[in-house]
Amino acid sequence: MGSLLQVRNLTIRYQVDGAEPHHAVNDVSFDLVSGEVVGLMGESGCGKSSTALALLGLFAKQRAEVAGSIVLCGQELLGMKEAELQKIRGSKISLVFQEPGIALSPMMRAGDQVAEVIHAHRQWSWKRCRAEAETILARVGLGSAARVFSAYPHQLSGGQQQRVVLAQALCCEPSLLVADEPTASLDARSQAGFLALLRGIRSEFGISILLISHSPELQASVADRLLVMKNGRIIEEGSFEGLYENPLHEYTRMMLRRPYGVKNESRVEADAVLQGNSFDE
Ligand code: ADP
Ligand code: MG
Repeated sequence: MGSLLQVRNLTIRYQVDGAEPHHAVNDVSFDLVSGEVVGLMGESGCGKSSTALALLGLFAKQRAEVAGSIVLCGQELLGMKEAELQKIRGSKISLVFQEPGIALSPMMRAGDQVAEVIHAHRQWSWKRCRAEAETILARVGLGSAARVFSAYPHQLSGGQQQRVVLAQALCCEPSLLVADEPTASLDARSQAGFLALLRGIRSEFGISILLISHSPELQASVADRLLVMKNGRIIEEGSFEGLYENPLHEYTRMMLRRPYGVKNESRVEADAVLQGNSFDE
């Protein structure tokens, strides 16, 4: 399997008014080969989301200084023009992040939101884009896809919304999916469902995934290899089992052994109410 992504000496400094620039990511290098799922773990604020945003070229120059090299499918992404990046986002690399509610437009039906992404990348008729969107929704486990297709986001549960976002991310068959805490806003049941879905997707779509997640359970069952990040640096890497048995750092040991599934009760309740209101998952 060939190398898909090479990140070299990635350094990200945020420009903060009236303060010293803040080094969020420091000299980070890693590779990802085709079909591989790499997990990225580390405490809050260590630089995981900044790394994800840099991969998608989502930093405005005035906000952050990004240095190093990010080569995806043989193409250098750093310094690429916005118009070119827009062609690559969605078609070669996609992002799913924590809050599906933010990623989706509240005013547009779910299916049309997926069709719109396809329409932006393919020279297809709107009708064909909608038909393709329906197929993709079914592939991400939205079984009664025809109903989900015409639903507005508020009519869907958190888990279903996240699947619609995933459908958007996958609909143009990117080589790399970056998932930044994709299950963090979901209740326990939806988390388990999404975990199973990610496993299915990697085998069905043959896609590579950079999976950012705090959850040892998710990482253990999906990631082939883990990168452990602390204070903007990758401090160790290896298989989940290897790091679990023989971590170099206490930090890693604590992270991998942390109990999974600690949820904010009110959030779980809110989701339970929503589920009563929504379609079957
Ligand atoms: P993580 O995703 O691991 O929680 P982030 O990449 O979000 O970490 O943040 C890394 C560091 O960069 C943190 O110290 C955070 O406070 C800082 N940071 C993140 N976004 C910004 C921003 N827009 N402006 C200034 N500092 C930021
Ligand atoms: Mg983050």
